[in-house]
Amino acid sequence: MSVDKVLLATPRGFCAGVEKAIKALAWMVKIFPPPVYCYHEIVHNHYVVEIFKKNGVVFIDDVNLVPAFSPLMLSAHGTAPDVEESARTDHRVVINAVCPLVTKVHHEVKIRSKKGFNIIYVGHSGHEEAVGTMAVAPESVYLVETPQDLDNIPISDSSPTALLAQTTLSQDEWKDILDKAIITHPDLWMPNRGDLCFATTNRQDALAEISHMAETVIVVGSANSSNTVALTKVAKARGAKNVIRVNSDSEVPDDLTGIVGVTAGASAPDELVFKVIERLNPKNGYEEVGNVIEDEYFPPPPELRELIKGMTKALEIGVQFRKTKDNALDSDRELTASDSLALLRA
Ligand code: SF4
Repeated sequence: MSVDKVLLATPRGFCAGVEKAIKALAWMVKIFPPPVYCYHEIVHNHYVVEIFKKNGVVFIDDVNLVPAFSPLMLSAHGTAPDVEESARTDHRVVINAVCPLVTKVHHEVKIRSKKGFNIIYVGHSGHEEAVGTMAVAPESVYLVETPQDLDNIPISDSSPTALLAQTTLSQDEWKDILDKAIITHPDLWMPNRGDLCFATTNRQDALAEISHMAETVIVVGSANSSNTVALTKVAKARGAKNVIRVNSDSEVPDDLTGIVGVTAGASAPDELVFKVIERLNPKNGYEEVGNVIEDEYFPPPPELRELIKGMTKALEIGVQFRKTKDNALDSDRELTASDSLALLRA
């Protein structure tokens, strides 16, 4: 390996929604004896999912497989309303770790559909977020993945139409469809700032700054992570000659040279990023590029807060739970998802 320098995109890696979801599931593991069930991967990252599996979490794609009275977490990507309803039967202890920014899109779908709008939803077919969002009002939503798809949806130009999106698209992908939709539906309604979330756009903007300077860009993250894949598209579109997505340092090719840009999808831990840098072993070290500071914090799911409050009471009257501090969630803001994962690995 003969890498001169690493340009490290900032921000990168865990976003506020992923932090919330990982910490919430770590709490479930701490509170309940195994198995704790999780509907879909808690976040789309192989490394994170494996840590939870080793700690007794069973990931399922059908909530009806979860035995009655069992603890069940719903993932960060959002859950279809009918699935959530089924999950909440049979006395299961359900905690919904959906990101509030996904919930916002669910809300937009619900309101617009009630007002009689047709909804063009820009997203990736089969992605869990898209599936959950479209299920809020399936009769009103039309999925498009490319500008060409707009030609094939059965919505007349005169009917009230809204344009919504999956939160993790690449900005280019979104803009291409937006530009065409505005022409085909001049009275299009859309939320003020669109649906792409701050974490998605911040990571893409930071990567765009370094892509043209790098011989190779490495994006750390899993293949099923939409925002990770979006980052690879951004790097290519902004001039990186060679773009590689890796799950971990072991997948980094050993013949890289020159300047290498590094970033990570919103569900990839920073420790994987630093292992990649270690493997690249750059002669002149690494430099962080990007000046956006993210200080968004999403508090734990309300059901988890209630649960811990209830447990405290139960402990007082002698009901068996794993012991935790009385006001344990008060310090949630100071604890990072990486800290939670490190505790689970210990
Ligand atoms: S990428 Fe955006 S929408 Fe997805 S979990 Fe993170 S903050 Fe929420």
